[in-house]
Amino acid sequence: MALKRKTPLKSKKRLNQISKTKRSAKVRNKPLGEGHMCEFQFKGCTGVAIETHELLSGTLSNKCKQVGFQKKTCRNCHSRWHLGMDKKVRHALLAAYQLEFMKKNNWTQEDFERELHNNFIERK
Ligand SMILES: [Zn+2]
Ligand SMILES: [Zn+2]
Repeated sequence: MALKRKTPLKSKKRLNQISKTKRSAKVRNKPLGEGHMCEFQFKGCTGVAIETHELLSGTLSNKCKQVGFQKKTCRNCHSRWHLGMDKKVRHALLAAYQLEFMKKNNWTQEDFERELHNNFIERK
């Protein structure tokens, strides 16, 4: 059996390239390369993210791009989000994503409201 692959150096280089692509994709919203998981995972998900969805629409979608309030998604989940998702389900998801986003970026609820003109989390 002499057919073993032995290219550890090459694959390490490839990994570096992938993470570089990831960083620039965040800002410019170009098609995602391979190896991105769909972050929605709804029913019918293909598993592989090929595009980015801004979590807020209209004039706020640019702002979402800027601050990174977006999700990598497959085509199926993306159309599911835009077509025929239950309002309550969507709101609950947005609340979860808002929380996750606030934690990740160290934003308070007030920051979020000020920057993105929305608040999906109920105040106590
Ligand atoms: Zn999906
Ligand atoms: Zn979208």
